[in-house]
Amino acid sequence: MYSVTKQIEFCYGHRLLDYDGICKHLHGHNAIAEIEIRSDVLDPRNMVVDFSDIKRLIKEWVDRELDHRMILRHDDPLTKTLQAMGEPVYVLDSNPTAERIARLVFDIAREHGLPVSKVTLWETPSSWATYAG
Ligand SMILES: [Zn+2]
Repeated sequence: MYSVTKQIEFCYGHRLLDYDGICKHLHGHNAIAEIEIRSDVLDPRNMVVDFSDIKRLIKEWVDRELDHRMILRHDDPLTKTLQAMGEPVYVLDSNPTAERIARLVFDIAREHGLPVSKVTLWETPSSWATYAG
C-alpha cells in the first residue's frame, strides 16, 4: 500500500457550545490539516496522486472557506451577528471541534474525488484529531 500526505496550514477561530471549559470562549488556532491518500496501485506517472492536485483541490477550498474565518455551530448566537457585520463565518451542524473539522476536510476531499484515507487536524503542535473514513 502506498500513501502520500499533504499538510495545509490555515488559521481559524471558534468556540464550543454546551461545553464547560476555556474553549467555550472565542479563540483561534494556527491549524494544520494533514490529508493522507492511499492506494495499492500507482497512476501512469508512478504517483498515488500529484501533491499539486491535493493543493489545487483542497488547499484552495480551505483557503476560501475556512482560512481566517470563525467556524461556528449553526445555532451559535454569534453566527447571525458576525454575518450581519460582514464577517466571514463557516457554519457547521455541530460543535466545531478538531474532530468535526477533520471530518469536514475529509468529506470535502472525497467530494473532490480524492481517495482520502485519513485527515488529521492539528489544533496545536501537541493536540490533534483524526478522522479516517
Ligand atoms: Zn480551539
